[in-house]
Amino acid sequence: MKLNETQLKQVDAQVKRLVQTDSYYGNLYKEHGITEIKDENDFKKLPFSSKADLRNAYPLGIQAVPDEEVVRIHSSSGTTGKPVIIPYTKKDVEDWAVMFKRCYEVAGITNKDRIHITPGYGLWTAGIGFQAGCELLGAMAVPMGPGNTDKQLQMMIDLKSTVLTATSSYALLLSEEINKRGLRNQISLKKGVIGSERWSDKMRNTIRENIGIELYDIYGLTEIYGPGIGISCSEENGIHYWDDYVYIEIINPVTGENVPDGEEGEIVITTLVKEGAPLLRFRTHDISRIIPGECPCGCKAPRLDIIKGRSDDMFKIHGVNMFPSQVEELLSHIDGATSEYRITLAHEDDKNRDVILVTVEAEGRVHFEEVAKKLTTMMKSRIGVTPRVTVVPEGTLPRSEKKTKRVIDYRA
Ligand code: ZN
Repeated sequence: MKLNETQLKQVDAQVKRLVQTDSYYGNLYKEHGITEIKDENDFKKLPFSSKADLRNAYPLGIQAVPDEEVVRIHSSSGTTGKPVIIPYTKKDVEDWAVMFKRCYEVAGITNKDRIHITPGYGLWTAGIGFQAGCELLGAMAVPMGPGNTDKQLQMMIDLKSTVLTATSSYALLLSEEINKRGLRNQISLKKGVIGSERWSDKMRNTIRENIGIELYDIYGLTEIYGPGIGISCSEENGIHYWDDYVYIEIINPVTGENVPDGEEGEIVITTLVKEGAPLLRFRTHDISRIIPGECPCGCKAPRLDIIKGRSDDMFKIHGVNMFPSQVEELLSHIDGATSEYRITLAHEDDKNRDVILVTVEAEGRVHFEEVAKKLTTMMKSRIGVTPRVTVVPEGTLPRSEKKTKRVIDYRA
């Protein structure tokens, strides 16, 4: 998808403003001799920006406005090294709320709804984003934050919350508790707006079965406002994103070249009107694709497909680029398999070939050989890779509170 005229003008204005400042990117563009963006070609010459830049610029090196214009900061924790700090102006905060309000509207949420907000408040962008959008919409915010399940359920019942906002794992936990405690008749939830971490169909179906609500995926990242730059619609076919605030390109993560619409690659985001910390061509490492054509739901905003994984997780086996999430997706179609798995990659020297070993879990009620056979067949036909599959009893593979390491690569 090419930049339209308005977007091009907006990017040009961003660059012209940045080079007037002593900010990290202002200085970087000056070093590269970049002073304006006249056309698509100039845009393609802009260097990518990255989380590493933001760490280098810690704490406020990317700030592109005078101090008196900054009204708030947010921070993304990151698993390694320094955190990243993003300064926001009054307009940035307002723009974010406008985008978030649109997300609620796409999900059919109105000012009559009561929105139960469980994502965390504070440095993280989540909770306050859900709340600002809710208030702008005119709905009633129930600002819970995470934790304390008893209190969550009590408030949900007493206040008759109609919308649950949560991470997928917390939505799962709450839905299990509601089910276990037999509270389904006492809750008024109709919809769930679920944070953007990738989650499997299996998890989604479990939440649906437990509490019977419509689910929407919200997309965003702290570096680019926060959650709310896009959301899935009732068609459940991709995420509509707000192209008057962000421009999205898809690139080949290895070469950095743009790929055609419809083809998979890494999401790269350019903020069009952000003031406090504009980011141009920011590499998200999220893998998806632009879905060409218009959505039957009637929303004119362009669509990204559901996030498939992270480019950092991609590996190559038998000449095929593969993501761990592909195995997860297949497991969701196999009866008795859990969502847990491990992938081990190794090289067989005597045969001079790579092997892929997949360990999965299954419930005691099913035949393990059946599960292994099914997964092998599916991986062969759908991914083009022949694995060796081992099935172990449910609960065998280690669980992690943080991001679980799914792939071990022993190849030199
Ligand atoms: Zn739609």
